[in-house]
Amino acid sequence: MSKLKNYLESESKFAIIAGPCSLESREQLESILTSEEQLSFVRAGIFKMRTQAESFQGLGNAGLKIIKELKTKYDFSFVTEITDPRQAETLNEVVDVFQVGSRNMYNYDLLRELNAYGKPVLFKRAFSATVKEWLNACGYMPDLGEEKILLCERGIRTFETSTRNTLDINSVIYLKQNTKFKVIVDPSHGAGIAAMVGPLCHVAMAAGADGILVESHPNPAQALSDKDQQITPEELTHIRAQLTEIAKFYHKEVI
Ligand code: PEP
Ligand code: MN
Repeated sequence: MSKLKNYLESESKFAIIAGPCSLESREQLESILTSEEQLSFVRAGIFKMRTQAESFQGLGNAGLKIIKELKTKYDFSFVTEITDPRQAETLNEVVDVFQVGSRNMYNYDLLRELNAYGKPVLFKRAFSATVKEWLNACGYMPDLGEEKILLCERGIRTFETSTRNTLDINSVIYLKQNTKFKVIVDPSHGAGIAAMVGPLCHVAMAAGADGILVESHPNPAQALSDKDQQITPEELTHIRAQLTEIAKFYHKEVI
């Protein structure tokens, strides 16, 4: 059974999904794959939804080619954002888990399209969506349902400005207590500050989350997007070691 299928069927596994905000080059992703050998779920944005139109928009189709090549050499499940239903067919060739970003939680045509592929969807909460609206939006992916939709809490917009977003840890506990969905915490976008990622990963485990989505870059200062919130592969290795210890208390297995 593949690691991904095994994870979806288990209730006690805590997944570390990590990788750069944006795929920038083959070398960039390869350096993460070689320094974090245990990483089996890799994220990297190929089609980016940037707030400013002049910012880096991702490698697009050139990025797909890089992932195809790396998959022949390394064993990992790939998570990347789909921003338009017209990308579905080509992305389907390399993607193991489709990510729907915050800005697209209400894009019901995109959500409907994903039913056809039968692959799991990492479904991010919109900045200002209530949990009820988020759960209602899941209704557009009836063929995936609770087994294949992974809800991702990535922080919401509040009156607070000291951090990029306010990670709504309540939503994680609420969803774990009231639904059967797997819940993933994204501390990178949740705080927007690299130094806060480690502590928030601990909080995610305590809240009962089923995993974390973390942005990691070999050289965060040079990142083409979200440079303030990306951690180095060494920091990621350290967080994995800490979570592996903490997981014993919660009877979870970090994968
Ligand atoms: C991302 O994960 O890179 C991303 C763009 O996240 P969000 O949709 O939460 O802003
Ligand atoms: Mn990002």
